[in-house]
Amino acid sequence: MNNDVSRDQSANSIPLCVPFINGNESKYLQECLETNWLSSAGPFVSRFEKMFSEYIGTSDAVATVNGTAALHTALLVAGIRADQEVLVSTMTFIAPINAIRYVGAWPVFVDAEPEYWQMDIHRLRDFLENGCRYDNGTVINKTTGRQVKAILPVHILGHPCDMDAIIELAHQYDLVVIEDATESLGSKYKDVMVGHLGDVACFSFNGNKLITTGGGGMLVTDNQVWADKARYLTTQAKDDPIEYIHNNIGYNYRLSNVNAAIGCAQLESVHHYIEHKREIARTYIQGFQSVLGITAMQEAPWAYSSFWMFTIMIRADVLGLGSRDLLRGLAAYNIETRPLWQPNHMSPAYSGCQVLGGNVAEKLYSESLSLPCSVGLSKNDQLQILKTVESILRIR
Ligand SMILES: *Cc1c(COP(=O)(O)O)cnc(C)c1O
Repeated sequence: MNNDVSRDQSANSIPLCVPFINGNESKYLQECLETNWLSSAGPFVSRFEKMFSEYIGTSDAVATVNGTAALHTALLVAGIRADQEVLVSTMTFIAPINAIRYVGAWPVFVDAEPEYWQMDIHRLRDFLENGCRYDNGTVINKTTGRQVKAILPVHILGHPCDMDAIIELAHQYDLVVIEDATESLGSKYKDVMVGHLGDVACFSFNGNKLITTGGGGMLVTDNQVWADKARYLTTQAKDDPIEYIHNNIGYNYRLSNVNAAIGCAQLESVHHYIEHKREIARTYIQGFQSVLGITAMQEAPWAYSSFWMFTIMIRADVLGLGSRDLLRGLAAYNIETRPLWQPNHMSPAYSGCQVLGGNVAEKLYSESLSLPCSVGLSKNDQLQILKTVESILRIR
């Protein structure tokens, strides 16, 4: 065993990505308890929505119980219906794919590009130009015969997709753009906030996201009609508040005041969180810079990344050990890591769904490892992680 790695196995573990609570969270929670505003009708819900829409720059924000509910609601207000199709990134957590099925629509999976690991716009363009035909202004997938209605780019790991190309294609083919911005709060594409690029966007405030509310989500849009509809659908589609008359099937998707209170406090610190994430990323990037066989995540020239989840690729053919070996090696030192998700086109739950490409996502899946990157990660712990990685891979 290399002596450089002195980390005591019984020492506190270093988690992958945990919340950072250091502001007004307790104060605002106390306010909820003292004023008896706990449920979804409460002043913190509207305050959180207002703060959030101002931060992103949209005219509206609608708070939801989680990010998946926000995605489901976005698909509903965008009018995506059963047996239509949505072009979606295959390299993502499964939530947006499930939401597509909740409305009865089908995913068409788009591969990732190898540089920044986001939706591959060349695959997207090739499919729309060559894989579809046009029937009375509608886009029909030649392979399935179904109508293509929307593009759902997922900005993964804190980095935006190449949105100019996606929006241009959407305009050209009259498709709706639904951004899954759950992993990229605070990131920018050419100076525009992620979440203010498509027709509607969704965020998540799960415990591992940049800011957390315990559990929560947000739908943002400039479309007033869609925002009103989202508010209506997420509160059981109540058309008459006294007689309880419902003209539509609604959902109980509203965020509670307690969760929103935490969200207000967290959002007050978002700039500080992003600075820390970017500092952590800089240290990792520097640390791995000269290591043959390791590629660290990068930032495109047109992007401002929050570096929400810091991830590296490990070439087993170069290093002799792969991503899962390193995962197990680090776990022995109580350092928590995780590979990227199984690409959704490989998921048993979605077997048989169409995929455009897929090799890049499969390679990312097998080579990837996300490293500890909590906002509260100390410099010492991070240097210890770097040393431990180097020692396991026998790099230095
Ligand atoms: C976290 C996440 C979501 C939504 O998560 P919830 O747990 O429902 O808040 C959606 N899409 C992606 C890509 C995510 O990472």
